Amino acid sequence: MAHVISTGSGVVLDLIRSAQATTRSDLIAQLGWSRITLARRLDELLNAEIIVSAGQSDSRGGRPPEEFVVNKDAGLLLAMDIGGSHSRLAITDLVSNILLEDEADIGLSHGPDDIFDWSCQVFDHLLARLGKSRADVRGIGVGVPGPVDPTSGRIASPQVNAQWADVIVKDYFPDDFRAVFAVDRDVNILAVAEHRLGWPEHADAIVLKVGMGIGCGLVLDGRVYHGGRGGAGDLAHSPVGGDEECLCGRVGCLDTVASGRAIKRELHARGTSVRTSADIVELASSDHPGVAQILAHAGSQIGEALLDPVALLNPSAVVVGGNIAHAGAIFLDPIRERLLQDATTFSRRDLVVIPAKLGHQAGVIGASLIAQDALFEPDRISRLTREDDASLAKYGEK
Ligand SMILES: [Zn+2]
Repeated sequence: MAHVISTGSGVVLDLIRSAQATTRSDLIAQLGWSRITLARRLDELLNAEIIVSAGQSDSRGGRPPEEFVVNKDAGLLLAMDIGGSHSRLAITDLVSNILLEDEADIGLSHGPDDIFDWSCQVFDHLLARLGKSRADVRGIGVGVPGPVDPTSGRIASPQVNAQWADVIVKDYFPDDFRAVFAVDRDVNILAVAEHRLGWPEHADAIVLKVGMGIGCGLVLDGRVYHGGRGGAGDLAHSPVGGDEECLCGRVGCLDTVASGRAIKRELHARGTSVRTSADIVELASSDHPGVAQILAHAGSQIGEALLDPVALLNPSAVVVGGNIAHAGAIFLDPIRERLLQDATTFSRRDLVVIPAKLGHQAGVIGASLIAQDALFEPDRISRLTREDDASLAKYGEK
C-alpha cells in the first residue's frame, strides 16, 4: 500500500504537541511545505481554538518568532487507572497536567458496574469542584488490568476475572459524556507515561509493573507494542519452575514466585501477615528478618524471566515500576545482577535497570496521555478542522 503523506492540520498539531516544532520556520523546515499551506493549516487550528499563540520566543536579535502551543484549557481529560484492589482517578487539562485526583480501595474484583458507577460519581464531584461539567470533557483514558483488543477497544477474553471479559468501557459512561475514549492495559499506560515523561532517552524499553501481580509493557522504537490481540508482554506466566499453581491454571509461572501475591504467601509461611503490596514495602523498610531475602529472591526470578525477552528485543532499559518497586534497591539490585550476569554478552551491553520515576501518579498520567493521543489523532484533527464551525467539543465518540 502506498504511503500517503498528509498535508492536513493534524500533522502540524502533532509537531506542536510534541514540541518538535513550534514556530513557523521550524514547522516549514520539518514539513517542507510552502508558507501559504502552513499558514492555512495554522489558521484552521487557531480558528478551532485547538492551538494558541504563546507569543514571541526567545530573541537572538531582531524580531523573535511567534510560538504556537496546544490550547490546554480548551477542555478537560478524565483519567482512570483501575487496579486489582485499588484505583485512581484524575482530571487533567489537555496537555495532561493533573488538576484534581482521587483514589479508593475499589478495583477489578468489584466488577465493571460498580467501578464505573463509582468513577462517574467521583468525576462529577471533581468536575463540580472545578466549576465544570460533563460537557467540558473532551477525552477519557482508562487503564485496565488485562489485554485490550487494539482495534475494537474491547477488553480481551478470556480474563482471569470473568466479569471483565468483552467489556467495552465507553458503554459504561452515560451518553452526555461526548468524549473520545482510549483504553489500554494498566502496564501499557504506565509504560506510556514513563517513556514520555520519565525516561524519554530510552526508545526501546521493557517496563515492569510489580504489585500484587506482575505486568510487563514493551516500548519498541518509541511506541508501546500491543501485539495482535493486545496481549504482548505476558511475562507473568513465563515458566520459571516450582510447584505452585498459578491463577492461570498452570504450574510454575513467574507470578507464583515473584509477584506481591507470592511474596505475601512466603511471608505468611514465615508467620508474618500482610494485606497489600504497600504493606510489603513498609515491611521492607523495617528490619523485619527475611523480607529482604524474599524480595531478593523475587527480583532474581524476574531477572531470570527477562533473559530471553532482553535477548530477543535488545532494549536499552528495563524500567521497574509498581508498588513493590518502591522497596528500592533490595528488590531492584537482584533483577539487575541476574540480568547483567546471565544475559547474552550482546544484550547486556549498555543495558540499564532503573526505577520508574512517576510514582503512584504514573497510571493516571498515562491514561490522560492516551486520551490526549486519541483526541488529537492527526487524521481526525485534519478532518475536523476542514469544517467551518470546527471545535473540539464537536467530536466525541458518544
Ligand atoms: Zn500463570
